[in-house]
Amino acid sequence: MSYDTNNIFARILRSEIPCKKAYEDDHVLAFHDIHPQAPTHILVIPKGAYVSAADFGAHASDAEIAAFTRAVSRIAAEAGVEGSGYRLISNHGPDSHQEVPHYHVHILGGRPLGRLVTPP
Ligand code: AMP
Repeated sequence: MSYDTNNIFARILRSEIPCKKAYEDDHVLAFHDIHPQAPTHILVIPKGAYVSAADFGAHASDAEIAAFTRAVSRIAAEAGVEGSGYRLISNHGPDSHQEVPHYHVHILGGRPLGRLVTPP
């Protein structure tokens, strides 16, 4: 799947759409989800143009991957959910219900989250 430069997170990265920023560095931006599913619901995205986890894992540089992984841990800690616990989710492709085709990790926490997958 090719990268859609007009996806909503690309537009946030270009500051065409506002976001409630939680963190930023050279490789990473994080912001609060517009429809939070938990008291803490932060989206972490790379600044590079990657469609999903598959694209990021296959094509991002070591520096981008390291920065992203370290940022996720740091953002969760700064959000105050390291002690109580949190869940990381990244959707790839149709079965996952990925809506925005720019790689992102959801950090969810601040309440008991239950089992990972709801039975069909
Ligand atoms: P996914 O289904 O994994 O692609 O998740 C996309 C997420 O992006 C959803 O949780 C949406 O609520 C969230 N979202 C969509 N538009 C925005 C926006 N403008 N600002 C913040 N979060 C957004």
